[in-house]
Amino acid sequence: MKTNVHLFKTGSRTDVGKVRKHNEDSLIIKPPLYAVADGMGGHEAGEVASDIAIQTIANEAPTSVDPNALRAAVVAANKAIIQGAREGVGRPGMGTTLTAAVIEEDDLLIAQVGDSRAYLLHDGELQQLTRDHSLMEELVSSGQITEEEARYHPNRSIITRALGSDPTAQPDLYELQVSAGDRLLLCSDGLSGMLEPEELERILAGDEDPQKVADKLVDAANAAGGFDNITVLVIDIDTVRPRIEQKRRRHFRIGIISFLLVFLLLTAAACTGLYLYASNSAFLIAEDGQVSVYRGLTGDIAGISLKWHEESTGVALKDLNTTTAKRLEQGVQMDSLDSANELIEQYRQQIDQRKSGDLGVDN
Ligand code: MN
Repeated sequence: MKTNVHLFKTGSRTDVGKVRKHNEDSLIIKPPLYAVADGMGGHEAGEVASDIAIQTIANEAPTSVDPNALRAAVVAANKAIIQGAREGVGRPGMGTTLTAAVIEEDDLLIAQVGDSRAYLLHDGELQQLTRDHSLMEELVSSGQITEEEARYHPNRSIITRALGSDPTAQPDLYELQVSAGDRLLLCSDGLSGMLEPEELERILAGDEDPQKVADKLVDAANAAGGFDNITVLVIDIDTVRPRIEQKRRRHFRIGIISFLLVFLLLTAAACTGLYLYASNSAFLIAEDGQVSVYRGLTGDIAGISLKWHEESTGVALKDLNTTTAKRLEQGVQMDSLDSANELIEQYRQQIDQRKSGDLGVDN
């Protein structure tokens, strides 16, 4: 569950237009959810259908960019409309389009059914994000008519997918990244069917605040004839990403620093331990024909020599037996200086005994 929903600056307006008696469109701004719905069914049933869709999506939509959850919310809206018609709320056959957006940081998720649209103004250029579920879209994409012809086609309002009729209806989902400075538009066909894309782009690229832009769009659609209900929702994407990036970077840096600290501490502990061990140890070694006593360790550890000369004992190698002399050439590690000194003392006694024994034999 997201606790910190960003509040983008928005502008919106829904208008009955110049021809229709009722406004069957609905919209909602419930950050991070933004949606428009264009109801149909006549005798005010379209209003009921678009209202059920908007209320259901408001209750069921995820509060983060979660495609499966948004899809499930749209499926629930479809079921609610079908059930409503069955129970006498509105009329049988009522239906609605739905274009719903969830924005989390710079992630944009859109669910789309019908011919309401989402557009994104990025770097002053307008791109249509969604694909209509309409007869015109099919004729245009199969190359049978041009976009210009579709705009004035008598069957231009026939849609091929809506909520409220087919119980298995699914939305199309779109996921994309948005940037600070982008402007998102959700609208019903009462806007996109009345204005050329160039006109939409020109008005959206104006630097007015989003409410002024929403008003201008509705006014322009009415000025062009206002044949249908007109609903627009304009969302200005402002800076949210840098804050998050800083947070991630800081966490990363803290991670690196912690790792280095732990590494240094462990290394220091290991070195200290080794130093203490070495300085308490001792060894005997043959040097210049006699036995020397060292504190520390024979040999090197990782290229470091840990030994300190303690004493040249004057015990001559030639006075010791050959096995002992050979071992002393390699070094004899002792666990303490005391035991090293004790061993030297033993050597001296052995030498003394041998010398007195030799004398005894000789004498
Ligand atoms: Mn419409």
